This record gives sequence, C-alpha cells and structure tokens, in this order.
Amino acid sequence: MPNPAILVKIGVILLGSLQLSCAPLIAASPRKVQLIHGIQVQNGFTESQISLIRQDLNTLLTLEMTGESARRLQERLAIPHSGPEALRDWLAQRVRILLPPQLETLVMPTGEVARNYGAALFHALRNSEQTDTTIWIPGLGHQRLSSPSVGFIQLGEPYFQIHTEWVNSYPGLESIRRLGYLFHEARHSDTPRDTASGTPIEPIPSTAQHAPGYPHVSCPKGHLHEGQESCDVDTTGALGVQSLFLRAAAQACTTCLPEDRALIEDEASQAELRIIYDSNPS
Ligand SMILES: [Zn+2]
Repeated sequence: MPNPAILVKIGVILLGSLQLSCAPLIAASPRKVQLIHGIQVQNGFTESQISLIRQDLNTLLTLEMTGESARRLQERLAIPHSGPEALRDWLAQRVRILLPPQLETLVMPTGEVARNYGAALFHALRNSEQTDTTIWIPGLGHQRLSSPSVGFIQLGEPYFQIHTEWVNSYPGLESIRRLGYLFHEARHSDTPRDTASGTPIEPIPSTAQHAPGYPHVSCPKGHLHEGQESCDVDTTGALGVQSLFLRAAAQACTTCLPEDRALIEDEASQAELRIIYDSNPS
C-alpha cells in the first residue's frame, strides 16, 4: 500500500538525503525522460517498469466507468464526468513527475510502495522537522518540493511487484491495483477546498482533517495498524479516493471475471479498513 506511514517521519529520513542533495555522489545519468499520458517519467526506471507504467495508463483509458461508484468518484474528484480521459487528466495534474525507486538523492525505505514528496515535505516543514525542502534530483537539478501540489511521486520496488495470488487472473487487474496507488498518491497533491467558493478549507486543529495534502493520522488503539500514521479521518482523503477508484474500476472492467472483480474489491476493502472516525460517510 502506498505508505502513508512516513508523512510525519519523513523529515528525519530525508535529513541524510538533503546532505547528499548538495553534493550528489553519483553523476546524473543521461537525461532520458518519457512523457506517458501527460506524466513525466524520470530517468532511472528499468524498461520493464516503464512498460508497466505505460500499460497501467493505457488500461485506465479503457475503463468506461458507470454506476454508483463511478458517480461518487466523479463527485469526490470534482471532475466533469467519469470518462477515462477525465480521470487521466485529473491524475496527470497531480502525479506530474514519477521518480524511480533507486534515486541517489532520495532513498525509498524498503517496503514502501510510493511517496508523494510534495505532501510529505510540506508537512515536515509545518512540523519543523525540516527547514529546507530543496532536493537535488538527477536530470532535474535542484527542486523545491514545499507544496503538496508539486506532484513529485517516487515509486518503490514493491509498487512493481506482482501479487502472487493474482498471477492467474486477467493482467489488467495488476494495472488497476497499481492505478489505485497512483490515485491514492494523487490525492495527497490536493488541498481540501470549499466546493462553492474554491477556497481552501481551514484545517481542524489536532486532526489532519482538511489539511493540505490530506495527511494520514495515527491508527487508533486496537486497529490492525495501531500507532502507524496510515489511517484517514474520513473518506475524502487518499484512502477514500483509492477505494472509490478501485470499486469503480472493478465494475468498469469488462474483461474481468467475477472472481477478478472480487480481488479488486478486496483491495478496496483493505483501504477502507484504514478509514476511521468517519461520522458522515458518503
Ligand atoms: Zn498515503
């Protein structure tokens, strides 16, 4: 799952990285950036990883979503319709640059699926864990990642790992599962806004509700992920968007068998289990 757990702790993790950022140990490899469906895929990915990214975005464009989950997803994302192009555009505006797992200056902790650096560093700055959010990225140079909306997403090795229990299923299932992660990370690029006026909503003190980047909160006592910063306070955040996308995609997957849909819906349920304190589900 997109590890949500690091949003608050990321400042500590990045201290070492930032020291490296001023004097990269390894020279930048030749610039080899690809633009896939409007998303800039930075150099450093393997060819097979790039083809998976392309396959996933191509799969997204086959998903003609209709029905209740699609309607709720459209409403949640505030997009004009739930057609695949609208979803692709929403995604590409928030996942602007994909960074590979092995990046000299940004080392992804083992086991982490993906990380939205704009959101993570914004909160590290707010929590005074970080004073500088300038990071040196091969091929891009120094980048200031201090806003959730910058859309710099790093993908970890687990992002590309195939689920062994899914191996006999329709190959597009893996794409849908990975797209769920991308929609999750994309939501971290957003700032909650008032629907009518479009102005940012004031965050509720002592909770992460309405905070820019939709940060996760600590899972409560007794929860499967007790104490980890991997829960959401309501359905408007990254987990809610991920689960809504997965449910709508399961319905839209015309080549999926019922058991395939069940796998995707189970993935959605896993995300929903981490949505807590929701007093007003929608
Ligand atoms: Zn997250």
